[in-house]
Amino acid sequence: MGMDKKQKPTICVIGGSAAGMAASICAAREGAKVILIEGNEKLGRKIYATGNGKCNFLNIDQDRSHFHTSGDPAWISDALNCMDNDFVLTFFHELGLPSVVRHGGYYYPANESAATVVTCLEDEIDRLGVEVILSDRMRSLRYEDGRFSVQLRSGRAFEADAVILAMGGSASPKFGSDGSGYYYAKNFGHTIVEPLPALCPLKLKENGATFSVWAGTRINDASITLIIDEKPVISEKGEILFTDYGISGIPVFQVAGSAAIALEKNQKVSVEIDLAPGTDPEDAENAFPEWREYFGERTLQEQLSRIFPVKLIEALKVIPDRNKKMATMKATAFGKAFDTLKHLRFDVFYTSGFEQAQVSSGGVSLPEVEPVTMESKKQPGLYFAGELLDVYGDCGGYNLQFAFTSGAIAGRAAAQSCLQGGRE
Ligand SMILES: Cc1cc2nc3c(=O)[nH]c(=O)nc-3n(C[C@H](O)[C@H](O)[C@H](O)COP(=O)(O)OP(=O)(O)OC[C@H]3O[C@@H](n4cnc5c(N)ncnc54)[C@H](O)[C@@H]3O)c2cc1C
Repeated sequence: MGMDKKQKPTICVIGGSAAGMAASICAAREGAKVILIEGNEKLGRKIYATGNGKCNFLNIDQDRSHFHTSGDPAWISDALNCMDNDFVLTFFHELGLPSVVRHGGYYYPANESAATVVTCLEDEIDRLGVEVILSDRMRSLRYEDGRFSVQLRSGRAFEADAVILAMGGSASPKFGSDGSGYYYAKNFGHTIVEPLPALCPLKLKENGATFSVWAGTRINDASITLIIDEKPVISEKGEILFTDYGISGIPVFQVAGSAAIALEKNQKVSVEIDLAPGTDPEDAENAFPEWREYFGERTLQEQLSRIFPVKLIEALKVIPDRNKKMATMKATAFGKAFDTLKHLRFDVFYTSGFEQAQVSSGGVSLPEVEPVTMESKKQPGLYFAGELLDVYGDCGGYNLQFAFTSGAIAGRAAAQSCLQGGRE
């Protein structure tokens, strides 16, 4: 790189959120001069919003099936094997941030404050002397005569020996990630796998339900099955929220990425919701004679409203015989109505879009990036980290884990490569 041996290499990190802050810290710890450029007025804006302000940054369950890509899943394993979950815990421990594990194996900072995570990262960035530039966005990136030239909107310009793109994807653009990272990657010859919203609510067709009536209700322990071209593909359990456009909640988020990809391919996408998983319609049938004896004057709808949220039952016009008095009904008819609530089928016509998505699927195609360094195979000295890559994870801390880990790998590798003159 034509660098004086005593001179520190300069690494420019673009994007100052989870991936970019981890990259800056790891590059600076290796001895590089680091310039971190962030379009927002402060670092880590998206991190403040994560985990409902508590920042769920890791999960105990490290099964690789929690990470998704359109490419080869072995790439993700190769990357995460370089720096596993112990690395993430040690990284934060060394920043003075202890953690706790909650329901579902979700890791949070001990004080359950996302703001503290940002503060600890900022403190380390400060201690290491990283030059932080805020409220300025990169507007051009070029590679000439063995060096990168970074131009900012303000007119400021920098030369760098290596550049790490950690600009996020297209999800939740209000936090600064507007998809511009894809543009810069493309300019260096990279393939971009179509970015789509993932971990987001689903918009449904009102097949036999009135969404304005069920809006605001929730069921704690429901299950949802995603059905693509009439084949069930994934089932998830947990709290489902019913909204005026469809459904939301963690189990819905978990299936939304696959739904978006199938919709993009023009496949038929629907969901089946079970309001009472683990309960057999036969149990309902068996309980029915006693209810009929005591509450025969009640309609079926009134009785079901004592088991499920009133507005939800009111909205479900598909329930057969719902206005019939129980005194006039047979137990089998009650069982049939209950069974309807275990197989509520709705066509999905769209996700809620990038605005409400927590992450994007798609991004920089993995075969074009080295998993153990995050370096571009198209342009030496160019590195990628975080959501910009064609990787996303389930709810539960996997996305931040990938952002921190890939950022750390990129930062360390970029600095080591420059210091060893590895790109000459
Ligand atoms: C509401 C919400 C809750 C979430 N909760 C969780 C959770 O609990 N656990 C979990 O694991 N994940 C969660 N996620 C997902 C997680 O936050 C992201 O996957 C993660 O932040 C990705 O990190 P990143 O650094 O790659 O990208 P981002 O966090 O998107 O950061 C990219 C940064 O780059 C900057 N940037 C972009 N372009 C430019 C440019 N041209 N010049 C300068 N700067 C630029 C942006 O301003 C932004 O700050 C949540 C997401 C949202 C929206």
